[in-house]
Amino acid sequence: MLRPGRMPRSGLRRPPGGATAIPRAIIDQVRDRTDIAEVVGRHVTLKRSGTSLVGLCPFHPEKTPSFNVVPHKGIFHCFGCGEGGDVFRFLMKIQGVSFNEAVKELAAAAGIQIEERDLTPAEEQRLRTRATLFDVCEEACRYYQGILKARPEGGPGRVYLQQRGLRPETWDRFRIGYAPDAWSGLVDHLHGRGFSEDLAIEAGLARRSDRRGSTYDLFRRRVMFPILDDRSRVVSFGGRIVELPDLPSPDAGQPKYLNGTDTEIYRKQRVLYGLSLARTEIQRQDRSILVEGYFDVVTLSQAGFQEVVATCGTALTFEQLEAIRRFSPRVVALFDSDEAGIKAAVRSMPLFAAAGVDALRLSLADAKDPDEHIRLHGADAFRALLNRTEPLTDTVIRFVAGRAGPTAVGRQRAVEELAPLVSRFPEVARASLVRRIADLLDLPERDVARRVARARSDARPGPQAPAAVDPPPPEAPLSPEVKDLLWLLIHHAEVVGPRIRTASPDLLDARLEVLDCLAGLLRGDSVAAVAEACPDESIRTILFEAASRTDYIPGDRAEVAVDQLFARLEADRIAMCLKRIRQEIDLGGPNRLDLVRERTTLNRRLAELRRLLPGIGR
Ligand SMILES: [Zn+2]
Repeated sequence: MLRPGRMPRSGLRRPPGGATAIPRAIIDQVRDRTDIAEVVGRHVTLKRSGTSLVGLCPFHPEKTPSFNVVPHKGIFHCFGCGEGGDVFRFLMKIQGVSFNEAVKELAAAAGIQIEERDLTPAEEQRLRTRATLFDVCEEACRYYQGILKARPEGGPGRVYLQQRGLRPETWDRFRIGYAPDAWSGLVDHLHGRGFSEDLAIEAGLARRSDRRGSTYDLFRRRVMFPILDDRSRVVSFGGRIVELPDLPSPDAGQPKYLNGTDTEIYRKQRVLYGLSLARTEIQRQDRSILVEGYFDVVTLSQAGFQEVVATCGTALTFEQLEAIRRFSPRVVALFDSDEAGIKAAVRSMPLFAAAGVDALRLSLADAKDPDEHIRLHGADAFRALLNRTEPLTDTVIRFVAGRAGPTAVGRQRAVEELAPLVSRFPEVARASLVRRIADLLDLPERDVARRVARARSDARPGPQAPAAVDPPPPEAPLSPEVKDLLWLLIHHAEVVGPRIRTASPDLLDARLEVLDCLAGLLRGDSVAAVAEACPDESIRTILFEAASRTDYIPGDRAEVAVDQLFARLEADRIAMCLKRIRQEIDLGGPNRLDLVRERTTLNRRLAELRRLLPGIGR
């Protein structure tokens, strides 16, 4: 960290909010002056291998090194778990610090003074909105808490929570509150505190009525569970409607649970309910318990199991698993013991594998959820269940094997089904799974290993795209040509650069982010700088992976390679044009002559390309 004596005291122009940014030029300078091998070397034992250094990845468990550092490119990349980036990213991951903190720490070490500049008005506006969204959520949380604790309109909430066995000290720990059965209780309260209606809407707490244009509370007659981010700030809420015998039934069509929508400060795919309270205990117990509902978390915590988290109304995502894995790689997850539950377990296996998580299966015999189990049987019974978890992989192997039957054909079929699942696990886990399958199916281990290896080579190579249970939004993947182009530009810029500069961007047909990366690399920016400027995580991964892979196309082949690559792209483009022309001619449009002429020209060019580079023009 920066020692105070080194801080440039004059020349620091902080705006009132203290919001400043470190100028890009300084960031680049710090990166250039820092030896990434030395910084990584403090945490990982590195051995030289060609032009890079390799070691055991600190971010996922492994026995053979797949973690690479490429000092002259200033980057690291792990082929096992896909983690990669520049030296700042490394520090952020390993020390859990922010980007600015990482930059400052390394700047101090390199003797570079950081003169933070004022934010641009746009940046300031953005920060202000964020700040006020945090403020408005915090204020809402206090309002709901106040209603639950002391106000007459909080009565139904108090009765309901008592019926569910939750004690007031638990309400406090989780900051539980109550949203009264009123249309504008929160909106009015916020208004009185100087927050605009627009902010309440932006924070996902209120809506504007289409017909009357008035703003109304989104959460009404609900027990409110605030959702906290990893710095314990309230970012959203989940609300459970309150049903009581002596209350009129809630309006028809009201969902039992209402979850906050995504906002500028909240992405439900990334957040786990309860994590900020659970993380110390997760580390201490070296496990987390993953459940589905707010009440499961709160009830288990009250019963003494504080390492518990829940998804917030989404299917489990890769990002959520990554978030818990930082504290412990062991996750106890709840799956029903019936066939549907086990099928769900089979489906989720690749997700756990991709996230490097050891999943343990917990099944409740006679309760629908942990909340009910605790209320029916108490804490000791639940603790006994926790001691009877089994690896999820065991459940899945036994299930698949059992279904396929004991005949030779059946066992073979089981291996076929299991191999693709096993192939997604990291190497260490894979070996022991192969042994386990061989054991359970009574087959030679090397047969199973061979089948798994085949499944691995069948799977598309490239960066690890986690097969999430909740699939990420589809994005156009980069074509192999564009990936190769990035690689060539990173490693043989002098040969490839001129060729790319004269190519038509249209030919590349790549996403804008990729074109930006190409432009940056052509300008001579470092891979690390280009990646940092790129907003797309998957492209960043591709860049880092390309940079750490040094032995792909040798220098003396680079020129031919890039020519072939462009010829392929052009041939593809021509094939598409020809297809379109054929369709238009078939439709009998008015410009038949022009079309025929264009077709002739294109065919001639295609023939030329084929002569130049045999085998082109699939
Ligand atoms: Zn790794």
